[in-house]
Amino acid sequence: MKKRSLVLVTVDCLRADHVGFLGYSRPVTPFLDSMAKTSVVFSQAFVAGAPTYFSFPAIMASRSPLGLGREVLGIAPGESTIASVLQKSGYETAALIAGNPYLTARFGYDQGFARFGDFMHTMSSQNLTVPANGFGPWSRVNRWIERFSRKTKITEAAYNDLYFRYCQWHGRRGVVSMDQLRRYPSADVLVDQAINWIEALRDQPFFLWIHVMDPHNPYYPPEEALSSLGFSHISAQRALFLNSFWNRWDLGLRRFERHKEEIVTLYDAGVRWVDQQLSRLVDALQRGQRWGDTVFAMTSDHGEEFLEHGVRYHAPGLAEQLIHVPLLIRLPEFSIAKQLDDPFSLIHLAPTLLECLAIAVPDSFHGRGLWSQISAGKLPDEPAIVECVACNNPWSVADRIQPRLMAVRGKNYKLAIRFRDHSHDLYCVKDDPLERFPIPADRQKEECQRLWRAAGVHFRQLRQRRDTDLALRARFREIRQQLNRAPGETSDTEVQNPLEIAGHG
Ligand SMILES: [Zn+2]
Repeated sequence: MKKRSLVLVTVDCLRADHVGFLGYSRPVTPFLDSMAKTSVVFSQAFVAGAPTYFSFPAIMASRSPLGLGREVLGIAPGESTIASVLQKSGYETAALIAGNPYLTARFGYDQGFARFGDFMHTMSSQNLTVPANGFGPWSRVNRWIERFSRKTKITEAAYNDLYFRYCQWHGRRGVVSMDQLRRYPSADVLVDQAINWIEALRDQPFFLWIHVMDPHNPYYPPEEALSSLGFSHISAQRALFLNSFWNRWDLGLRRFERHKEEIVTLYDAGVRWVDQQLSRLVDALQRGQRWGDTVFAMTSDHGEEFLEHGVRYHAPGLAEQLIHVPLLIRLPEFSIAKQLDDPFSLIHLAPTLLECLAIAVPDSFHGRGLWSQISAGKLPDEPAIVECVACNNPWSVADRIQPRLMAVRGKNYKLAIRFRDHSHDLYCVKDDPLERFPIPADRQKEECQRLWRAAGVHFRQLRQRRDTDLALRARFREIRQQLNRAPGETSDTEVQNPLEIAGHG
């Protein structure tokens, strides 16, 4: 039997409630919506951890994000991934990653890929939103005024606003297009390369992983995508202002709320652009007679927060807006839609996709292939586990070993556990999707016990399955990388601004 090919598309920061096929009212995903009519759609898909660095070990290696210990980031050297399994099975493999620093060879994500393009060299070093501390001869005066302004809250706020306006005036000179401001290659760049790669293949089965960053902050979608949503009046200069404003850390919630709608529009336009480019990719597969034997999966590594809990971006956390992602799997033989409404953890995605391709699932995977249950239209009745550590700077090992955060997400209820203060909350997410009203302790017994039991099972399995050899290999890799750094080269922890990192990845 001819082997099937696989295309896996991961869209950074894409929330489940911002795709049409899961009910979003804006027409941001017309192409994926049409594909959903002949696909399996998971309305309750959850990441195994958020953000990127806690999510991808599960997507690529079907391993719990903290399964090798909190110190370990990324895929361990020699760890089996969906790519390495397919490569060993004779697949041509390629990954095209739109410049996400956590999805690079440094963290083992190149394993199993004959072609690995991380686009890190195309990332812009331009930073128009945070200019240096003053410009030229004015810098000393500026520093003096700044120090003086810190004496009272009112003068400090006035200084911050004036300085922000000055930075805007300075930064927007010469800005004429979104392309100048974008930090990552847009989806069309990756899809162009993907099409060239597929066209150069003969008849071999292939695995293509595309990771796009268009909805990731800072939000600078192509103008064409804004126009197709009817927002062509948002100029590049306006987008620069909005992104800079959204990135401020000195303002209260009310002032952010004023610009939320426009920020969400920029984000949505990024999603729209991805959708349009995926349509182009599928066209090319059809032209090349490959679509008829290709499995296609689209999901995300985490969502994005737009002030629902008073915060922006996607720092490590358990909020529904972060952990609930879209998932769609299309098989060539499907002619009708199938929607599954039970929780599905992305830890089961890689083994399930291997099952679709009739390839054996490695024992090291923590997840299980659920294709037979999916075909029967009923997922197992088990909650999804989401884990992360509240670390703002994953480049620092010391920061990675902060206490754990964990969510046990059942169909209607969610248990959020904070290990730092040994506390937990139970929410009925069906009735309270914004998790504003924890259920009082005297009313939560039965459901709470069920979810705690699932957490206990998870911990027992993690302990049994922990592979100390892989964990050591990952730690040695990192130590070697630190030792190999050229003399005088700045360390990552010095280069990275923790506040930027919190919104990154
Ligand atoms: Zn991400």
